[in-house]
Amino acid sequence: ALIAAIALVLLFTDHVYCLNHLRENMDKNLSRALGGGWVNFQQDFRTAYRAVLDKDFESKWHLVVARYLAAGDSLHNLSEVLTRWAWAWVSTIFTAGIRTNGRVKSENQVTKGITGPGKNLFQVFTALNEPTKEQSRDTVIRVREAARKSHPTQLETLFKSVLDLLRLHPRLFTLQMCHQQLELSLYYTTHALQLPHGIRNWVRHLDFFSSDRPHCKILVPSHLLKIVHTQSQATHILVLFPDGRYMCDCCMQENVGVVCRHYFVAWVKIPGLPFT
Ligand SMILES: [Zn+2]
Repeated sequence: ALIAAIALVLLFTDHVYCLNHLRENMDKNLSRALGGGWVNFQQDFRTAYRAVLDKDFESKWHLVVARYLAAGDSLHNLSEVLTRWAWAWVSTIFTAGIRTNGRVKSENQVTKGITGPGKNLFQVFTALNEPTKEQSRDTVIRVREAARKSHPTQLETLFKSVLDLLRLHPRLFTLQMCHQQLELSLYYTTHALQLPHGIRNWVRHLDFFSSDRPHCKILVPSHLLKIVHTQSQATHILVLFPDGRYMCDCCMQENVGVVCRHYFVAWVKIPGLPFT
């Protein structure tokens, strides 16, 4: 009933499933049914879940469904709503990086602790506001700390204009996330992917830019970069467009709303890339 109501009442809101609840439900419904296959199932599920492209997800998910027939209807039920939990779809929805409702649950625990029988409305109101005031004070202190210029480090030198801009508009979440991404970007290398012989642009070569939205203006990428972590060799593909926009297959920009470390790798290597 709740799911049906969300579709009717919150027309412009994407309904995304909490990963923790998904895991708990699978644990409850599938661990016994799959018996010895449960461990392998979890691995295969994770592989499918992490697929970036919908087509990639679908081929991996079909294998999971075919391999674990003992799961019964549970996997078919998940197939019906895969746009609400699979990363291939959820990654492009802005959720501020939230994948579980754990934060709401812990807030509820705090609320339960400070409310209850014997408290009047004013006492509850005051008690609820107290943590908020503390959070605000904490935020101001942390923003000041992060905004304070430190001694020139590799990070300060490499990303001077990025850090200057971030300090000009200090928002704790953005500042911390960007700082973290800048630090992490130091552990990657990059090189440009070359167009195959005889192909004039990436749109003609890759159909995922134009696949399901024929009515949209097609953006022609100027560069495709391979961004590789020097230690783990984990690889991401970064697409740069002539107007300064970019797409990365980590989807951090769309999902969290913050520029990802992979873009910063390119930003250092290619003079003139924007950060505004
Ligand atoms: Zn990225």
